[in-house]
Amino acid sequence: MPWCEECTKYFVPNALTTEGNCPMCGSIIAQSDVNGRPILQPVTAKTLDLKSLARSTGEDEKAPWHFKLLVAALIVYLSWRVVSLFI
Ligand SMILES: [Zn+2]
Repeated sequence: MPWCEECTKYFVPNALTTEGNCPMCGSIIAQSDVNGRPILQPVTAKTLDLKSLARSTGEDEKAPWHFKLLVAALIVYLSWRVVSLFI
């Protein structure tokens, strides 16, 4: 949570300016991550890289086996329903 030393006040990240400065005194506020380590380059509207966030390793994009089984069973069922129309 951003902390301004001069104002002795916490700010929510949305309350900061687009450059990551204090909205009251304008000083640069060092943001920290969840572990308390300071973030060297604060995430702001200009430094946010959505493309890097959207990129993934591809490990979580694979469909689970039970979904494939469900789709295969659905195809077999619907095929049988079409065949049963003509029997
Ligand atoms: Zn301030």
